[in-house]
Amino acid sequence: MERIPFTCTLDCGSRCELVACVENGRLVRIDTPAGRPDSTAMPRLVPCLRGRAHRRALNAPERLLHPMVHSGPRGAGSWAAASWDEALDVIATRLRETLAKDGAAAILHATGAGALSGRGISGAEASRRFFSFLGPVTGIDGNMSVHNVLRAHRWMVGRHLSGSDRATLLESRLIVLWGNNPAETQMGPNTAHFVAEARDRGARIVLVDPRYTDTGVLADEWIPLRPGTDAALAAAMAWVILSDGLEDAGFLGRCVSGLEDYRAYVLGEDGGDPRTPEWAEPITGVSAAAIRSLARRYATDRPAALLAGWGPQRTVSGEQSARALISLACLSGNVGLCGGGLGGYGGRSGSLFDLAPLPWGPYAPGRMLPPGSWAPAILGGRLEPPPRVLYVVASNLVNRSQESLACVAALAQVPFVVVQDPFFTPTARQADLVLPASMEMERADLVTSWGHDAHLFDSRQALAPAGEAKSDYWVMSRLAERLGIGQAYTRGRDEAAWLDEIRRSSPLPWDAAREAGILRCDPAPRVELADYRQNPDEHALSTRSGRIELSNPEALDVGLPLVAAYVPQKAPAPDYPLQLLTPHHKARSNSCLAANPWLQRVEPHAVWINPADAAPRNITEGVPVRVSAPGGVIRIRAYVTERIMPGVVSVAQGAWLLLGDGGIDEGGCANTLTATTLSPTGGPTTHSNWVQVEREDARP
Ligand code: SF4
Repeated sequence: MERIPFTCTLDCGSRCELVACVENGRLVRIDTPAGRPDSTAMPRLVPCLRGRAHRRALNAPERLLHPMVHSGPRGAGSWAAASWDEALDVIATRLRETLAKDGAAAILHATGAGALSGRGISGAEASRRFFSFLGPVTGIDGNMSVHNVLRAHRWMVGRHLSGSDRATLLESRLIVLWGNNPAETQMGPNTAHFVAEARDRGARIVLVDPRYTDTGVLADEWIPLRPGTDAALAAAMAWVILSDGLEDAGFLGRCVSGLEDYRAYVLGEDGGDPRTPEWAEPITGVSAAAIRSLARRYATDRPAALLAGWGPQRTVSGEQSARALISLACLSGNVGLCGGGLGGYGGRSGSLFDLAPLPWGPYAPGRMLPPGSWAPAILGGRLEPPPRVLYVVASNLVNRSQESLACVAALAQVPFVVVQDPFFTPTARQADLVLPASMEMERADLVTSWGHDAHLFDSRQALAPAGEAKSDYWVMSRLAERLGIGQAYTRGRDEAAWLDEIRRSSPLPWDAAREAGILRCDPAPRVELADYRQNPDEHALSTRSGRIELSNPEALDVGLPLVAAYVPQKAPAPDYPLQLLTPHHKARSNSCLAANPWLQRVEPHAVWINPADAAPRNITEGVPVRVSAPGGVIRIRAYVTERIMPGVVSVAQGAWLLLGDGGIDEGGCANTLTATTLSPTGGPTTHSNWVQVEREDARP
């Protein structure tokens, strides 16, 4: 039996090394590598249940094995297999006609959140290069995950990333996991390990979250917080810190500008109410006593790390949540300290591996549509020229975008839709033509680990692609040939030659990487902004003042307050009284692996509902219910639990859309329930939706 290392490239918040055990060309099992260096400060990467379930995905019934062409009305399901030549000829003809008649802008290229490539040549890397030779096409771009926190960081810190390495948590005395669920969503390799280890060393762990997630087992305390009210809780904590004189005046004086504006807001010197714990209690659902206690501990148990998840900033004023946590970290002076942190995105700035990406051709996209609102742009006829071709690579676009049913309707308005993916996803089912792409084990690539980039994987091809599946690079190069740009696209290189070219871009011990399948660098844990804290003049930030700025005039331009003030959310309509969360699920990565029955058994898809909300609806554990929102209805089971606070329900994102009778989504896709509203800077708002939950048999 051969043991061949490959990399799990799911967009989960980590990236792990796996071993394919192959006998006579057949995958017998998936294993983990033996004998890797392992220490408390730099543990090896341990794959989760999703990585180990790749074997089931490889030969799944929903796997695409041949190019398929649809006939009749889009979505009707009348598919027939085609040869690669037939399929590629059809696509090349449509692309050529569209370029000639409507121009490159009429070609819409979408990627993202599928089987990502890391740094190599698969998925989006291959297709972006291809489209950059066609002209200034239209793209769907922006960050579904962290748009609002990136914007907040840019305004306040002058850079997008400001997370310290996770190993610094070992020095923390207090860790506040604010909407952060590393036990299920990784949030950087081994984050849960470092939190658990810090706790063993005496740190206190506080979970601030509307749900008692699996991360709760690592916590000493759970503080349920109403979704979208993070800035109010932060303001009340700031009020306690300022009123008690617990702020770090030295740090604030040397390293922060705009404090007066935030202080005026917090203390009510802006004409509003003082943002006391009593002011915040009815807004946040957190008792004033709990707010006081958390604020005092956060300001005095230094170093204290505020580890923010990404859910809190996916709201209609998500920029404010992110700004508020940065402001709070500055007030407490926990910035630039080992064991502290800024409470932002989480990834470190810079990369430990300096690899050249697959280069682009002569054109950048000419028009970019926000990922949360491409469908309304099409449906509202706001695009000129309108898209004539939609080409989707490694993305379950319909499932991952807000208001999925509107996305289906938008697809119906595009004359020609191609989906290139390993699986027959809900997006593929709405296409004219689908192309079977290979999976991780079926192609070689170079991949870096997520967030901290401490590992680089020389991922090998362990198996021949299933059926007639081909690599993304193979598909794009064959299309390029048909369009007369084959040589420009490939430069005469196959995938192996491109990977060699990427290797040549960086002087790393590649022979060792080839031998082991992995390179690991053991850097000293990096404390973000430590140099800035030491000497803010010498390490001035690229903000206007060179300092961290708590007051941001740019925010006024998009209708947000000058400082990290709480912006009340829209009140719920009477028909939709429950606030909806759409968190990630431990048994899938976005919608990847959602159809995997091994993983479906781990935690069945269900709507979480508190007994206080379930009882008046006569909803009991496990009964079928309908969850309704203005944009759609899903049918799902109820999970009645005190693990979610009253007034809030939760449907994990990623389950596949499955339209049944009457347009009801029997698959339980969370985005059937979300609206296409954007935050003021254009970010997604998937945690700012309201729904009703009803027992299925209670309906007339
Ligand atoms: S899903 Fe993430 S944590 Fe799990 S094996 Fe894959 S990369 Fe590792």
